[in-house]
Amino acid sequence: MAEIRVKAYAKLNLTLDILRRRSDGYHDLRMVMQSISLHDIVYIRETGNGDIEVSNSVAYLPCDRSNLAYHAAEVFFDATGIENPGIRIEIDKVIPVCAGMAGGSSDAAAVLRGLRELYAPDISIACLCRIGEQVGSDVPYCVFGGTALAEGRGEILTRLPAIPDCWVVLCKPPFPVSTPELFSCVQTKRLICHPDTKGMIQSLEKKDLPGILHRIYNVFEEVLPDKYDEVYSIKSRLMDLGALSACMTGSGPTVFGIFTERKAAETAMEVLKKEYDQTYFASMIHA
Ligand code: ATP
Repeated sequence: MAEIRVKAYAKLNLTLDILRRRSDGYHDLRMVMQSISLHDIVYIRETGNGDIEVSNSVAYLPCDRSNLAYHAAEVFFDATGIENPGIRIEIDKVIPVCAGMAGGSSDAAAVLRGLRELYAPDISIACLCRIGEQVGSDVPYCVFGGTALAEGRGEILTRLPAIPDCWVVLCKPPFPVSTPELFSCVQTKRLICHPDTKGMIQSLEKKDLPGILHRIYNVFEEVLPDKYDEVYSIKSRLMDLGALSACMTGSGPTVFGIFTERKAAETAMEVLKKEYDQTYFASMIHA
């Protein structure tokens, strides 16, 4: 029976900008995205019974249709017209949940990539990204991976030059941030600052790491309610520990710091880990 093991990488937002609210209720975004080495592992095994079964290593995560990995498998067989022979998906979760790192979308993308390899190797990545759109806004990027510009709801993707090597420390404080709450804050408080996305892209093209680090910016930080102030204290801690740039990723609450020295990043990780269980060290992943 066919089987495959796929890595589902977490993502960071090097920039996150909100351009406008659309008439369909979604927002037009412009984001520079980056895959990092922190990953879940997704195993897909053919069972021959015609069903989709999901299990995962986190007890409170759903295993039914509401698991994005399950939904991705359903959408894949629907969209391609391939008959489901019966598959079992096992997810070994490492990426923290509700962290702004697209963990669920990344599992969904890993299922799509795995099923493509097993049953439809002729389907292009662009086509797989379009299938992913039906699962969630971040899924096309997670299929695409690496360094990329994501526009629209996140589904319009442009490959960007890889970020020069550097190291990341990620720290998730122990509370969730509600994404709808943040979007509603953006409605009530007008955004004053926006990331210099064009400058970020030029810096990536020139492999100018200081220019890249200087332009890391997420507009959600500007509207973050005071009750989430710990995000700012983690940013300061990361900078004090030698990060050259620190920022919240996605709709948070995870904060990442970027280091050029591996040793400094490892030391920062060890220090923060004493206070925050969910602290991780990672490198950049190129597509
Ligand atoms: P994003 O960065 O895309 O906004 P996130 O990292 O903040 O996502 P996720 O960890 O992807 O958030 O989880 C968001 C929700 O998705 C949770 O409520 C969770 O129950 C649900 N979910 C469904 N499938 C999965 C999965 N395979 N892994 C994690 N969460 C999942």
